[in-house]
Amino acid sequence: MALVAALVGGVGAMRARSLLRKPKPLGAHYRDAPTKVLIVGGGFGGIPVVKELVHALDGNQRVGVALLDRVSFTTFYPLVPRTISANVEIGHLAHSIRSIVRPLGVDFNQAEVEGVDFEAQEVHSNKGSFPYDYLVLAPGSRTAFFDTVGVREHAIELKGLREALQVRNTIIDRFEEAQWLRGEHEEGLLTFIFVGGGPTGVEGAASTHDLIFNVLKRDYPDVDFERVRIVLINSGKRILKEIDTSLSNTALHRLASENIEVMNNTRVAEIRSDAVVLSNGSTIPTCTTVWAAGVEPGPLVKGLDVPRDARGRIVVDRFMRVKDRPRVYAVGDCISIEDKPPLPALAQAAKQEGKIAGHNLAAEIVNSPLTPFRYRSLGQLVDLGTTSALTDILGVKLSGLLGEAVWRTVYLKELGYNLDRTQVLSDWAIDCIICPSVSKLYDDPPAP
Ligand SMILES: Cc1cc2nc3c(=O)[nH]c(=O)nc-3n(C[C@H](O)[C@H](O)[C@H](O)COP(=O)(O)OP(=O)(O)OC[C@H]3O[C@@H](n4cnc5c(N)ncnc54)[C@H](O)[C@@H]3O)c2cc1C
Repeated sequence: MALVAALVGGVGAMRARSLLRKPKPLGAHYRDAPTKVLIVGGGFGGIPVVKELVHALDGNQRVGVALLDRVSFTTFYPLVPRTISANVEIGHLAHSIRSIVRPLGVDFNQAEVEGVDFEAQEVHSNKGSFPYDYLVLAPGSRTAFFDTVGVREHAIELKGLREALQVRNTIIDRFEEAQWLRGEHEEGLLTFIFVGGGPTGVEGAASTHDLIFNVLKRDYPDVDFERVRIVLINSGKRILKEIDTSLSNTALHRLASENIEVMNNTRVAEIRSDAVVLSNGSTIPTCTTVWAAGVEPGPLVKGLDVPRDARGRIVVDRFMRVKDRPRVYAVGDCISIEDKPPLPALAQAAKQEGKIAGHNLAAEIVNSPLTPFRYRSLGQLVDLGTTSALTDILGVKLSGLLGEAVWRTVYLKELGYNLDRTQVLSDWAIDCIICPSVSKLYDDPPAP
């Protein structure tokens, strides 16, 4: 018995050591390597592919890996809505991709990928063509507008850091105008509409409330804050339909306590420069609409000659290999797994898929067996502003301040890099002591 325990302990310790030790960087540069791996997209799916692949190849001298992304940083999306209220500094959620992959012996190129020639095994981009022997597609998704009239012209999408900054700048613009007009303004100037009752819409509306009432209220003495309206429009029967009903009811009460109006079973028919028209024919005067109503594959995925599902996502098998395209893998928001129920477009799913794809790609290169993907939901977290969050982890449901404490702890861990953790922790510590000063940063294109 003691021997078995010692053996189990020994194997466990070896496994733990192999997981903990720093991966040996790859020995070959992508350009000169006999076997070239190309990864498109350095987000929640792409980065774990790189890490797992390098870990499994363990200093391989023949395989060279390059990562392509249109931007030079990877974004920590779950905290993006918090940047609207300046509870987290925008730059603290962007981590340099180069600084992540360079120590692993992986090349990075900032390039917009435009298409893939699967026969020639080449990726085409605005920086030229990149050959590959193995390819991983992880370009994520973009906001879906569902052909809504006026949305592209008159709404701001809530996707990444640039868009969150645009939302914040636009809100500040509206208050500048209201201050200038000293109450003599149109009805909708201080009405802020969020479209989409999922986590992004709810979090965006809650963060907007924090910005207006915790930060801006001090700075605009001539604005009547009683005239502020924040409205969340949701096409479904209830907001946050992916989470437990008791938690979504808690969210509803919290939003109501902050005078955020929730309109369920309501669709937006048209967005105009001065109003939102609803499907029931009624109109809400507003000049600020934020769109967070869903995602879809981007133009790169739409243009690929690969099997796709009804929503345009790339179909992969349970090993993350693209159907009918040998040596091509895909992960993240842009995929659906053959014969499996669709997975939510979440960071945790993309991360798990990325790990398994990296592992299987290395296994394919060295001719060892592949591992099938199994999704494990790690729980649900939704931010309701700086003093309240909903968490559902392993069936333990929390809300309010306790939920907020767990929410912060989980995301501090998930941030993944000590520099980012320190910066976000210091943002939160400062925010507890002094109210942030927020001004319009940079002169963005005029708000729609
Ligand atoms: C505001 C917001 C909040 C969110 N909050 C949460 C949350 O709280 N919890 C959660 O689990 N999930 C959350 N998500 C969802 C989560 O961020 C995504 O599911 C996840 O990022 C998907 O990972 P991905 O690798 O597929 O795509 P991404 O992480 O978006 O990475 C895709 C990468 O590909 C690059 N790229 C795209 N097209 C090209 C191209 N043509 N050429 C070169 N590069 C390209 C992009 O620049 C990007 O770096 C949130 C998303 C948003 C927008």
